[in-house]
Amino acid sequence: MERIRSQLFYKKALEVIPGGVNSPVRACKAVKADPVFFERGEGAYLIDVDGNRYIDYVCSWGPLILGHAHPEVIAGVYFASKRGTSFGAPTWQEVELAELIKNAVPSIEKIRLVNSGTEATMSAIRLARAYTNRKKIIKFEGCYHGHVDALLVKAGSGLATFGIPASPGVPEELTAHTLNLPFNDFEKVKEVFEKFGEEIAAVIVEPVPANMGVIPPKEGFLKFLREITQQYGSLLIFDEVITGFRLGVGGAQEAYGVIPDLTCLGKIIGGGLPVGAYGGKAEIMNLVAPEGPVYQAGTLSGNPIAVAAGLATLKELLKPGTYERLNLMAELLEKGIREALEDLDLNYRLHRVGSMLTLFFTEKEVIDFETALSCDTHLFAEFWQRMLEKGVYLPPSQFEAWFVSLAHKEKEIEKTVEAVYKVLKKLRKD
Ligand code: PMP
Repeated sequence: MERIRSQLFYKKALEVIPGGVNSPVRACKAVKADPVFFERGEGAYLIDVDGNRYIDYVCSWGPLILGHAHPEVIAGVYFASKRGTSFGAPTWQEVELAELIKNAVPSIEKIRLVNSGTEATMSAIRLARAYTNRKKIIKFEGCYHGHVDALLVKAGSGLATFGIPASPGVPEELTAHTLNLPFNDFEKVKEVFEKFGEEIAAVIVEPVPANMGVIPPKEGFLKFLREITQQYGSLLIFDEVITGFRLGVGGAQEAYGVIPDLTCLGKIIGGGLPVGAYGGKAEIMNLVAPEGPVYQAGTLSGNPIAVAAGLATLKELLKPGTYERLNLMAELLEKGIREALEDLDLNYRLHRVGSMLTLFFTEKEVIDFETALSCDTHLFAEFWQRMLEKGVYLPPSQFEAWFVSLAHKEKEIEKTVEAVYKVLKKLRKD
């Protein structure tokens, strides 16, 4: 495959944008490749600026659960934009979206829309600290909650990809109240609560981490977090920016039957446009300005075009049988890859939760960030490059989730499995 125009654009981009990209993992550095510049998306496919077609498993890092350019989303965006791009004043559609989310997500009684997942987690942390009048936060190694100063410690996603423990520019004072613990480690959480329990404002967690690759919570881990936070008067925050409306309309909290105090959302609820949200118990949310004293605002929050894209997406997802169809395709993909691994006598770990999956290039059990780091990232880089040449665009990092969308059908899954088989076979030989 030739990517002449991509290369040209990248060269130009490097002159005007740091690293040539507007978000680090896009640069494809971890897979020792140059980024592909895209022209358009169609359903399960991406078409690059040189005219090459790829089956897409990045899906804009999660939002595009309906696939690219879904007609209902495009129509929503089109008609909303004709009415104006932004008013800086309330619209009925924001209320409709809030109600729809409230009815779908068990923990949410009231919700505030923001512009990104980062804003959602940042605001939820501020609110939790205000509500509890405490400072400390527990997060888990390898979980990523956006580029919030206090949460940029041993985080997943780009930080895991580039091996960045914490970011320069974040003074120690700002992370002094962040306690980082291994995911799935009951004992460590218990120890820390025994020591600092009365000072802990909240535990923030990706209920199913996807930013160190997909790692399911151990049986009972989320319930344990619910109980211990309740015991010590701390809040439990589920960062469902990825899992929200992905593992079902009620997200991970519904799937695992554990109800947090606050929930952060993003990605899918914006249908590919910039939206985030945080919500939870009315008693807590009522502290947010102007109802309460906790300040949080946004010029473009609840933007009518973004809200229209979100509404169109959620309405599609609420149709009967949607998640069964989605998960069936992901299951087919998992089954195909497992068969390929078995056939080739490879023991790599494959995790799937709903429509998210990760193939870990390690034979060790992966239960947390440390064990995820046992992966052979060089081998993953080879795998990624060869998959790209076969027309499959995977997340350009070992520590990310592959997303299946409703636009992925048997044809795309079969093609992908065939490519995986051929590439793994070739890599095994080399
Ligand atoms: N939380 C989680 C779980 C995420 O995966 C992400 C982004 N990948 C964020 C928060 C931050 O969202 P955004 O990039 O929209 O700021």
